[in-house]
Amino acid sequence: MSTASGTAGNTIASTQDSPEQDAVPSGSVREEYENLADLVRKYRFAYYQEDEPLVSDAEFDTLFRRLEEIEALHPELVSNDSPTQEVGGEVSAAFAAVEHLQRMYSLEDVFSLEELEAWITKAEASVAKIGNGAGQPAWLTELKIDGLAVSLLYRDGKLVRAATRGDGTTGEDITHNVLTIKEIPQELTGTGFPPEMEVRGEVFIPSKAFAEFNEALIEAGKAPLANPRNAAAGSLRQKDPAETAKRPLKMFVHGIGAREGLETRSQSETYAVMQQWGLPVSPYFEVLGSLQEILAFIKRYGDKRHSLMHEIDGIVVKVDDLATQRALGYTTRVPRWAVAYKYPPEEVHTKLLDIAVNVGRTGRVTPFGVMEPVKVAGSTVGMATLHNQDVVKAKGVKIGDIVVLRKAGDVIPEIVGPVLALRDQQDPPVRDFVMPTECPSCGTPLAPGKEGDVDIRCPNARSCPAQLRERVFHLAGRGAFDIEALGWEAAIALTQPAEPEVPPLTTEAALFDITPEDLANVRIRREKRSKGVATGEFELVPYFYSKGTAKSPSKPTATTVKLFQELEKAKAQPLWRLLVALSIRHVGPRASRALAQAFGTMDAIRNASEEDLAHVDGVGPTIAAALKEWFAEDWHLEIIDHWAAAGVRMEDERDESTPRTLEGLTIVVTGSLPNFSRDEAKEAILVRGGKAAGSVSKNTSYVVAGENAGTKLDKAEQLGVPVLDEDGFRELLANGPAAAADAADAGEAAASQTKQEAE
Ligand code: NAD
Repeated sequence: MSTASGTAGNTIASTQDSPEQDAVPSGSVREEYENLADLVRKYRFAYYQEDEPLVSDAEFDTLFRRLEEIEALHPELVSNDSPTQEVGGEVSAAFAAVEHLQRMYSLEDVFSLEELEAWITKAEASVAKIGNGAGQPAWLTELKIDGLAVSLLYRDGKLVRAATRGDGTTGEDITHNVLTIKEIPQELTGTGFPPEMEVRGEVFIPSKAFAEFNEALIEAGKAPLANPRNAAAGSLRQKDPAETAKRPLKMFVHGIGAREGLETRSQSETYAVMQQWGLPVSPYFEVLGSLQEILAFIKRYGDKRHSLMHEIDGIVVKVDDLATQRALGYTTRVPRWAVAYKYPPEEVHTKLLDIAVNVGRTGRVTPFGVMEPVKVAGSTVGMATLHNQDVVKAKGVKIGDIVVLRKAGDVIPEIVGPVLALRDQQDPPVRDFVMPTECPSCGTPLAPGKEGDVDIRCPNARSCPAQLRERVFHLAGRGAFDIEALGWEAAIALTQPAEPEVPPLTTEAALFDITPEDLANVRIRREKRSKGVATGEFELVPYFYSKGTAKSPSKPTATTVKLFQELEKAKAQPLWRLLVALSIRHVGPRASRALAQAFGTMDAIRNASEEDLAHVDGVGPTIAAALKEWFAEDWHLEIIDHWAAAGVRMEDERDESTPRTLEGLTIVVTGSLPNFSRDEAKEAILVRGGKAAGSVSKNTSYVVAGENAGTKLDKAEQLGVPVLDEDGFRELLANGPAAAADAADAGEAAASQTKQEAE
């Protein structure tokens, strides 16, 4: 690894001259250095020998860099057994030790694009100095596979031995285990291979297979594996090959060791011949000519790193020309002709301080982990959901554990599992999570969900303050009333303020009745910050009003003024947004739009039968049942009535110029009509007072059938529902059912004609 500030290894990019280089190391520097070196050795042992890392890679890399920094400043501290001078890894006594014919190396790491640029610039200068006429080097750029390095020895085309990297000179004999990996040829195909050749590559578990393997482990009541790298390493280092054979292992080759008589001129040409001999070469490599192209490669694969076949932790850039590689050579640890750019870490270790529970909008009680905040994938994370108590159990985490926290790209942070090796050392000792039996917000005894539902719920839907807070936050959301000034903190201030004791809002029914005066004394508890950093101390602050001084009395803040303006605007929102705002189970924007389109008014939805509701395209039986259940609660109806009285619009505006020719009719449109999209047809029905249904029943007045009409047309015929073609539909829209009667006969004749032709 190199750092911008210098490195002990004599690598291309290392900065040799540091003004502090000659300073004599003080006792404390020596002590720090020795402690650090010991720690790095300990972590390496756990990582390579036990396949069970004690710290995250990011944490390890930071320690390693610090070691390099100290060595750069105090080269006299560097000894032959310094971790910076060795390829990390030893040979376990469980396996026979084998000597590699040619050494295996690690890679120099860079952790930012600037460091990469500096490395490339230096490398180009070194290549120019060698002056073998190669000019600017071409860069073979490929993915850094997160797996385990292995070396395959082929003699006369036959696989005779496979070994781990070990300390680079001596590896572990894992031939029997490698023989179970199907795509590693036991015999090379084709001709021209050298009599003796060491093929280097990475054994890995594909991401999808890893996820499936872990699911199966959880189902069998076993602990899941922490990550694909450790899983691959653990799988290859099984004592019983039958066990390895069960693991979904694959391999990609990325280098060559001893190669007696192989005359290729570049790394890429070597890949091409290896492919011809049946060796698995990665499809993800390119030979690039400039830093810009390398940066674009890094960006491209960074964006899609989670949709690739395997996990990657970076990109490897290698001088493609083999003569130049030979001229640049190696340090004791790494080649001077290659560098690994590491992506920002997505997996870190942190302490699980507590498992608390949150009560959601529908009363669902969800455990979540409270952790020591850590930076992962670019953001600081202090909390992560644990979904339900079964998940807590399956992950095997206890309060006080050091846990692996993962945040892949934009994905929600996830607690992967505990670092079991550190469990015994925790102080205070770890303890099990126990699901509370009473709602942490209102004290109501919690109840299990319906059959098959693993969730536990607070049944006090109406007045549980936590559920109310969540509903209020939800109703203000972008997909509902869209009240920007009513965010998360405002929802807390309205429903669970520190003062006054009785919150301004004890039911959402009163939302539009609130006045600015009601909010004058609302205070919330907020953590004090010093220069933007949380202090751990709390204070009570007014939320909706300014603090006020002798000169300027307390008054509503600009956001509070905006809140009242937005509440006023919310009253005129379309019906579908009102439906979303009501927090009816399963009723999101899609179903709400469908309902609003089909019924047009809140009253029509309220009074519709379950069957009518279920027939609406995009609604179906589950949502219909949830709607009926919701409307059966008096306090729900109070919300609607109260809001209506406050001026909230309960129906969509109608275009009064359009004649209401379809009042009372239920119409199903099926197949494709030449001049109406599905939505246009529905819209045309609704503005004329009709209902647009999604399925045919005896209550259907007409079926409008276009091309490729399927089972709905058959059903209409079975039930004797009149069928219209597009012309008939136009007739119906313009002049109502009487005029459509003739058209229906014509439509049915046309439909049966089409069917006969099709048959
Ligand atoms: P490395 O993983 O950073 O890079 C070297 C290895 O990359 C090679 O040996 C090779 O096997 C592999 N590799 C993958 N794709 C490759 C490609 N396309 N071309 C060439 N090589 C490729 O170095 P390392 O010495 O194996 O391990 C050091 C790293 O391991 C650290 O940076 C750290 O992230 C991790 N580590 C973690 C701990 C821990 O406790 N968490 C301990 C030790 C090491």
